[in-house]
Amino acid sequence: MDGGGGGLKPMDSEQLREYGHQMVDFVADYYKNIENYPVLSQVEPGYLVKLLPDAAPNQPESLQRVLDDVQSKILPGVTHWQSPNFYAYYPANSSVAGFLGEILSAGINMVGFSWITSPAATELEMIVLDWLGKLLKLPQEFLSSGHGGGVIQGSASEAVLVVLLAARDKTLRMVGKSALGKLVVYGSDQTHSALQKACQIAGIHPENCRLLKTDSSTDYALSPEIVSEAISHDISIGLIPFFLCGTVGTTSSATVDPLYSLAKIAKSNGMWFHVDAAYAGSACICPEYRKYLDGVEEADSFNMNAHKWFLTNFDCSALWVKDRNALIQSLSTNPEFLKNKASQANLVVDYKDWQIPLGRRFRSLKLWMVLRLYGVENLQNYLRNHIELARYFQVCVGQDPRFEIVAPRKFSLVCFRLLPPVDDNETRGSNKLNQDLLEAVNSTGRVFITHTALSGMYTLRLVVGAPLTERRHIDAAWKVLQDEAFTLLCSPLQENGNLPKSPPPIGFFGNGFKAEPLPQK
Ligand code: PLP
Repeated sequence: MDGGGGGLKPMDSEQLREYGHQMVDFVADYYKNIENYPVLSQVEPGYLVKLLPDAAPNQPESLQRVLDDVQSKILPGVTHWQSPNFYAYYPANSSVAGFLGEILSAGINMVGFSWITSPAATELEMIVLDWLGKLLKLPQEFLSSGHGGGVIQGSASEAVLVVLLAARDKTLRMVGKSALGKLVVYGSDQTHSALQKACQIAGIHPENCRLLKTDSSTDYALSPEIVSEAISHDISIGLIPFFLCGTVGTTSSATVDPLYSLAKIAKSNGMWFHVDAAYAGSACICPEYRKYLDGVEEADSFNMNAHKWFLTNFDCSALWVKDRNALIQSLSTNPEFLKNKASQANLVVDYKDWQIPLGRRFRSLKLWMVLRLYGVENLQNYLRNHIELARYFQVCVGQDPRFEIVAPRKFSLVCFRLLPPVDDNETRGSNKLNQDLLEAVNSTGRVFITHTALSGMYTLRLVVGAPLTERRHIDAAWKVLQDEAFTLLCSPLQENGNLPKSPPPIGFFGNGFKAEPLPQK
């Protein structure tokens, strides 16, 4: 038996105290040193199998030995989402409050599928989602006092799936089950692929999932005219439009679909209207950004991920519906072994009927902790600070004529690209240039950014959203981008004398994009 681990019991308070302290120290040290790790893991595929034994140990090992392996073998294979230099995808915030909630949730470790299995879990979830719903100024119908209410899902993908199922079944109850093949779903080519996956799972024919085209003329937002035309055409050929998804803060460019107009179209055609604000929803707790949710009053369901940009450790995706019965009618089961007085008497919410799995964690503790330990004002300022840092980055990019801003910025995402040398205006060439820049920048390990395609253009995305990011990190990220761009632009052409040998001075506004003045440090 390897020293130390042999006496570890399944659960012993004193051992938990001792090992728990050790683990908290380990995690705290991780955060203290997080900037020293390459933000994007630099390992090769299959690296770990070479480092670990090929079978589990017969005898217990010590925690120290495990932590040593975490340090030397696991952390090199971790991409550090909490690093202040993480600007990829959309963020997945952790925080001290979220972490404490996570510990408490793991500590209590109940499985709250029905009210009776832990009344506090269900009731706290209802209360906390009412709190958050009020912060977002969602209409009363989304709150638990009426026919609707909020529920925590694991992800925005699960949220859109459950409401799609509810909408599908609601429609099928009216038109008959055999009409499944005629049901049509609408979103845009900017809608998250979670909608397409939900259609696949819900049995919607792939050809009946309409991802309508957007372009730069609407800043990649869904055009109500295009939606109306598509719906009219589908009705004219005997199909049944039943679900429309609008997005506040699309994944590629954080654009906002025109909710009012879309809701009107959905309503007049008897369709379910879902609003996906997975990332940008958080910002809408600030009065100055709430305007982006205008029109949500007319939606049937609304979703935002508290685990993205709201300091709540993964996972915690908040979904509100106006008609909880629609969800329950699709997702409820009532086996004998789960029957109990409170459920039978219809006195309580049983969240098992609002989601796919039966079991569920005590996730509301995390959100409750975040709201209580930070308070609304701090949360608003946290979000505002990221948006301000993104604005600052945008100004930096806008002042360098070698780059262009590709889409307007509303929140904390900046979409930009490196311009090809003057005599190369081929999209293919410039896409390759930006792909190379992304590779070069990420392989430094000093920043991690990702890309998307907008109008066929390879576009770089930098999202400010990691809890530890400060102005100095943005300056450093911009420096890495400038340096790598300089190397890339100069290497093939320097001999021709076509390009400057040092980065150009700031102050030139390239490409007609109106840049704001560079803020003072
Ligand atoms: N919707 C939007 C707008 C997103 O940006 C994302 C992920 O970034 C999702 C949905 C999917 O989120 P999840 O991973 O919670 O399913």
